[in-house]
Amino acid sequence: MAKIKKLSAETIRKIAAGEVVERPASIVKELVENSLDAAANQITVSIKNGGIDYLEVSDNGEGIAAEDLLAAIDLHATSKLKTIEDLEDIFTFGFRGEALASINAAASLEIITATANGEANRLFEADTKSKIEPAGRNQGTTVIVRDLFRKIPARRKFMKAAHTEELNIRNLIKQLAIKHHQIELHYIVDSKEVYSLKPASKSDRIVKLISTLKAEDLISLDSEVDGIKISGYVCHPRVAQKRPTQYIYINGRNVKANIIIAAVKRAYSNKIPPELNPYLFLELTIDPKSIDVNVHPRKEEVKFSDESKLFKVVLNAVENTLNEHMRLEFTKRFTADSTSQYTPTKPSPIASKQKSYSAPNVQTAIDFSAGLLRDSGNSDYIGRNSFDFGASQNGQNNKNSNYYQIFDTYILMTKGDALLIIDQHAADERVKYEKFKTQYTSGNIEKTPLLMPIEIDLPGNVDKTHLLALITALEKVGLTASISENKVTFDHIPTLIMQKLNIGNLLTEILTELEQEQIDFSQLEKRFDRVIATLACHSSIRAGDKLEPEKINKLITDLWQCQDPYTCPHGRPIVTEISRQELEKKFLRIK
Ligand code: ADP
Ligand code: MG
Repeated sequence: MAKIKKLSAETIRKIAAGEVVERPASIVKELVENSLDAAANQITVSIKNGGIDYLEVSDNGEGIAAEDLLAAIDLHATSKLKTIEDLEDIFTFGFRGEALASINAAASLEIITATANGEANRLFEADTKSKIEPAGRNQGTTVIVRDLFRKIPARRKFMKAAHTEELNIRNLIKQLAIKHHQIELHYIVDSKEVYSLKPASKSDRIVKLISTLKAEDLISLDSEVDGIKISGYVCHPRVAQKRPTQYIYINGRNVKANIIIAAVKRAYSNKIPPELNPYLFLELTIDPKSIDVNVHPRKEEVKFSDESKLFKVVLNAVENTLNEHMRLEFTKRFTADSTSQYTPTKPSPIASKQKSYSAPNVQTAIDFSAGLLRDSGNSDYIGRNSFDFGASQNGQNNKNSNYYQIFDTYILMTKGDALLIIDQHAADERVKYEKFKTQYTSGNIEKTPLLMPIEIDLPGNVDKTHLLALITALEKVGLTASISENKVTFDHIPTLIMQKLNIGNLLTEILTELEQEQIDFSQLEKRFDRVIATLACHSSIRAGDKLEPEKINKLITDLWQCQDPYTCPHGRPIVTEISRQELEKKFLRIK
C-alpha cells in the first residue's frame, strides 16, 4: 500500500482555514476589511466571550447582491482580483477570496445583506444546505460567526482565554480605528459598548485610544522622497516606552515591517536610551510594484525590493522631522521673549561657518543673556540673592554674571519664569556631537597638525581589525594616522579635542563601547553617528570639571545653537527646568 495519500478536499479546506482564521481577532480583521472594501463609513463590531461564542461585524457598505451571495462564501471567489497581473496593483484589503470560505469551514456563518436597490437577503446554515431567504435590513452587510472552531476541535485547543482573545480584538480595533479615523466605529463586548467613535482627526483618535499619549506628545511627519511617501505621527522622545504602540501601514495595510522600525529606532538613537522605543503611527505609500504583499497567509508582512533605500528614506524623514521639532520647541520655550527674529531653518551642513546662519543665533544667545539679567534683577523670588546664598555658603560654587556652576557638574541659569539646570557633560557632548557631525557630512574637517606626532603601540588587548576600522573611520573627523606593523602614528587631531588627551586610552574606550553595542565594524561607515557620539562623549567636559566663566558662556552659547539642545547623543536629558510656580508652591506662597 502506498504511504503517500492525497488529503481530501475537505481536509485541505480546513488546513487553509486555520491559516487565515487563526483566532477571533483574525476573523474580525477580515470582516472589517471587507466592510472597508465595500465603502462602509459606519462599522459595528460586537463580540461575546472573546469572540469564541459570537462575533458580529455590521456595516453600511454596498451590500452583496443575491446572485453573488453563494459565490461570496466559495473558496477563491472574489470580486476584487481577476487576473494574476492585478496582484501587482492591489489597493483593496482582500483579494484572495479566502476569508468567508475559511470562516465558513471553521464556524457557523450567517450573512444578512442588502444592496442599494433595497433587495435584502439572509444566508444561513451556509456550510450545509446554504439556505437563502428574504430578510429586512438597511443597505449594508452583517456577518455573524458563531461557535468558532466547533468544526475544527483541534484548533480550539490553541485558543487563549476569552479575556486574551478580547484584548487581541481590542488592539486590532484600535489599530483599525486610527488608520480609518474618518469612519464611525462601535465596539461592543458582551453587550457593553467599549468604544463609540465618531469620525475624527487621526491625532484625536490616537489620543482617545492610546491613554498614555497627549496631543502635544505627537509629532506629525510628512515627507516624500524617491517615490516613498511617509505621513503620520511619531512621538516626542520624552514619552518613549519599553513597548509602545507602533502601527505601520504600507499602502493602507497594517504590516510588521522590521526594516522600518529599525530605521526609526536609528533616528531616535541620539534622543532616547537604547532600551526605549518611540510610539509610531506611520503610513507609507510605495509603488505597489516594488513590494510583495503576498508573502504571508494573513498578509501581515511585506517584502521590499530595495530595503536599504527604504531604510535611508525613513531614517532621514524621521530624523529631520524630530530635529526640526526639537529646535522649534526649544526656540519657543526658551527664547520666546527674545527680541531676535530667529526662525529655525534647516541648517546646511556648513551652516556654522556661514555668517547668515550663525549670526542670528549668536544674537539670540546674547539677547537671551541680557534678558536673564533683567529677569533676575526684577525678580522677587529668583533674584540674585538666592544664588548669592548658594555661592557664599558653598565654596565650590562657581558664579559669573549669568550662570552658576554647582557641584562642578551642573550649570544654573534663569530664563523668564523658569530656573534651568543644565548637565555640563551632556551639554558639551551634544555640542561636540553636532559639530563633529556637521564636519563629517560637509567634509569640512577642522584638524590641527601635531608638532610632535603621537606614536602609540597597538594595544594588545583589543581586536586589531576593529581598531584599524575605527582609525580609518576617524580620519573623517580629522584624526589622521599612519599605521605600521605594531604602531599607530597620529599626525593630526580634530580641533574639537584640542585639550590634553591620552589618545591611546581614548581609542580603547571608544572601541570597547562600540564593541559592547555590537556594531558591525565592517560597516562602520553606516554607524558613523555612533562613532562620533562616542568620540564626543570621550572628548567632552566631564562632571566634576571646574569651569571658567568664559568656558560656561561658550558652552551655553554653543548649546543654544544645537539642533537638539534637549538630549545628549545617548538619549539622556541635558536641560531640566523648575518653573517659578513650582518654587512658589514649595515655599507655600501659592497652593
Ligand atoms: P476577498 O475579500 O478576498 O474578496 P472574502 O472571502 O473576504 O474575499 O469575500 C468574498 C467576497 O464577498 C468579496 O470579494 C466581496 O465581493 C463580498 N463581500 C464580503 N464581505 C462583504 C461586505 N461586508 N460588503 C460587501 N461585500 C462583501
Ligand atoms: Mg476579504
